[in-house]
Formats: sequence, C-alpha cells, structure tokens
Amino acid sequence: MLDLVLPQRCVVCGKRSTQLCSACLSRLPRIEPPLCERCGTPTAWPVRRCRDCAGRRLAFASARGAVHYDDAVRAFIAAWKERALRRLAAAAVSVVIEVVPPPKVEVVTFVPPDPDRGLKRGHHPPRQLAELLAAQWGLPVASPLRRRRAAKRQRGLSRAERRRNVAGIFAVKGPVASSVALVDDVFTSGATANAAASALRKAGARRVEIVTFARVVR
Ligand SMILES: [Zn+2]
Ligand SMILES: [Zn+2]
Repeated sequence: MLDLVLPQRCVVCGKRSTQLCSACLSRLPRIEPPLCERCGTPTAWPVRRCRDCAGRRLAFASARGAVHYDDAVRAFIAAWKERALRRLAAAAVSVVIEVVPPPKVEVVTFVPPDPDRGLKRGHHPPRQLAELLAAQWGLPVASPLRRRRAAKRQRGLSRAERRRNVAGIFAVKGPVASSVALVDDVFTSGATANAAASALRKAGARRVEIVTFARVVR
C-alpha cells in the first residue's frame, strides 16, 4: 500500500526512482563463469571440485548464485527483507533468470524461515523468490522443510561452527520429489543450504540443486 503513495527511492543509491533504479539494477555484480561445477565458486578455469569444496562432504549436487554479495546487494536484500517490496523480488528474479541456468529438477522449494525472525516480518524472501522462479521455470513449488529449532546467528562463526550450528536443524514433512531445487536469498558458507539439502536427501531426494540470489565469494 505504502508503495503507491510515498515518493519512491532506489534502495541502493537513494535516488528518486523506482525501488531499484535501472542503473543500480544493471550494476549488480553478476557472477560469471568459469565456476567450480560443484559448489559454484568462481575459479580461474572450469573445475569439477575447487580448493574450497574438495574433500568436503556436500549434500547438494550443485550451487549457483546470481550476484556477488557486495554493499549494494546487501542494501538491496535488507530492504527486501524489511519492507517486503514486491518489485525488489521481481528484480531479483530477473537477475537470477539472466545468470543462472534453469535447474534440471522436478520441484522447487526454499529454505524455511527461522521461527522467530520469519514470522515477525510475516514475509519470507526465499519463499517469494522460489515461487517466482518456479513460475518462470514452469515448475511446481513444494514446502516440505521445517526448522526443528532456531539457530544462533551464523554471523561471526567459523565455517566448522556454522556447520555445527545448523546440523540437524531441518526436518522434512511429507513426501519429497527425487530432484529438488532449493532456493535461498544468500549463500554465505553454504552451511545452511547444505543442512537443508541433507534433510531433503535423507527424506528421499536423490539430487538437490541450490539456487540463491546472492553469494559470498571470498
Ligand atoms: Zn539506484
Ligand atoms: Zn567448489
């Protein structure tokens, strides 16, 4: 509602414009190949496993993100989370469609909200992203994942701590397709996506492909 009456400003540069001005939309830093085929980290040349993921047990078959998590993307995602602006969701979807090839799966799902945080906002960008992407890909959406408990904030934790923090946090309710695209807004260490993929695998999914809007690249 407020969208319609307030003068609009770009959530990245603050200029009076649409919620994301066309200059900022075109400048969002797309992730470009070559990539690690498995975990999606940008690499100097195409590899099947990279230094980052070799030797790690990953529950997902692949992970792809559309943009690097820089300051502009951080501002964009914060606005999307806090203000539930539908045009930001549409912009995120357009960039994912531009950068990430459609996953070869039967169904699309998303990382579910933390019980405390998601409900307060009554709005969950990963679900919105999953629904809009599924429509573009011509695939159904399912929501079999639940959180068993709230996780501590991942910020400031090491990779091993992040893994422990989210281990066993997800449960699956109901049947799961054999191949699933798992959508989230940001891929940081991959610990959360991996824990969710692991729950889907234990419930019978044979292949899980992660798709996120943004990705932290170290
Ligand atoms: Zn702008
Ligand atoms: Zn890798």
